[in-house]
Amino acid sequence: MKCPVCGGPCLENTADVVQQREGRFLPCSSCRTTILDKQSPPSFRRKAPCPACGKRPLDEVVADCWTIMAEEGDLAPTAPVMAAGIPLIHPGLALMAPPHLGDASMIFLSRSVTQKAADRIVAEIPEVKGVVHDGGEVPGIAEIDGTTPEYHTNTLLAGCDVRANIFETEEAPVIVFMQQSYAHIEYPRGFDPKLVATATEIIRYQPEVFVDAACGVGTLGITAGQHGIPRVIMNDAWGYAAYWAAVNLDVNRRTLGLDNVDIHITYGNIQENPVRKEPLKVADAFGDGKHYEVWWGDLHNLKEVLPKKVDLTVIDLFGKENRVKMADAVRRWKRETGGEVFIP
Ligand SMILES: [Zn+2]
Ligand SMILES: [Zn+2]
Repeated sequence: MKCPVCGGPCLENTADVVQQREGRFLPCSSCRTTILDKQSPPSFRRKAPCPACGKRPLDEVVADCWTIMAEEGDLAPTAPVMAAGIPLIHPGLALMAPPHLGDASMIFLSRSVTQKAADRIVAEIPEVKGVVHDGGEVPGIAEIDGTTPEYHTNTLLAGCDVRANIFETEEAPVIVFMQQSYAHIEYPRGFDPKLVATATEIIRYQPEVFVDAACGVGTLGITAGQHGIPRVIMNDAWGYAAYWAAVNLDVNRRTLGLDNVDIHITYGNIQENPVRKEPLKVADAFGDGKHYEVWWGDLHNLKEVLPKKVDLTVIDLFGKENRVKMADAVRRWKRETGGEVFIP
C-alpha cells in the first residue's frame, strides 16, 4: 500500500519492521554515546554517523534540529535543547536505553519551528522523516455535540508525518500507523494497561461480537482481534482515526487471520471534512470465518448499523478525564445497544 500522505513507501515491509524492532535503535559496538543537557543550548557540532552502522544518538539529531532552528531565527541562541521540540521515534517502541537513529526514524514536533527551518531539517537531517508544527492543542475532536463539530489539528510542514507504534501483547506485536499531525501522542511503554484490560475482558466474556466504539487508530480493536473473535466492529467519529484503523487492519491482517481488507473511502474524503456523526463504512475485512468492519461516525449513531446482539464493547473516549461524560456514554450504550461494556 502506498502512503496516502506522501505516496512513498512508508507502509511497506511492515513485517520486517516488526521483526527487526528489537535491534532497531540499539547502538553497535562502534557507536558513540552522546547525552546532552536538555536544559541548556547544545554545545555540540554536527558529527558524521557511526561508520559501522550509520546510526546517530537521538540527542545529536535533536541538537541538529535545534541548530537549524536557531540559524533560522526560530530559537534564541540561549534557548535550551528541550525548547526545540519533541522527537517521536518511528516506529515507536518501549525503549530500554536512549535510541540510536537510522534514516527516516523520527518525526519532529515543534511549537516554534517555521516553514523554512522545517524544510531545511528534512533536507539536511536524514534521520528526520517529517516536521510537524504543534499548534498547542491536542489533535482530534474537541466537541461533537454542537451543530458544527469542533476539532484541532497540527500542521505537517515538511516530509511525511506517518509514524507507527509497536505494542507488545501476549499474542503477537500490534503495529499501528497514524498521521501524527492528526493524532494525539501515544507511545508504547512495554506494559500498556489498556491492552491488558482489553485482553482480560475478552478472555472473561469470550464475545462473538466485539465493538471498539471509539477506536482511534485501532490499537484495542486489533488487540481484541488477536483472540480469534468472529466479528469485530471498530468505529471512530474522527476520520483520521477511522481511516488509519482500516489501514492498520490491513497491516496486521496476518496476525489477525484476515485474507483481505477492502477500504471503501479515500484519504481525500477524510481531508474534506474529518468529523462525521452519521456512520459511514470505511472498510470490510474477511478471512477464516471472520468479518471485521471499520465505521466512521458518532458512536451513539452506530446502533443503526450494528448486529442485533453485541456481546462486548470497549469505550475508550478521548478526554476520559471527563468522568461525567464517560459515565453517560457507557450508560447510554448499555441502554441503546446492550451487552457488556468496559472502559480500558
Ligand atoms: Zn508517507
Ligand atoms: Zn554504530
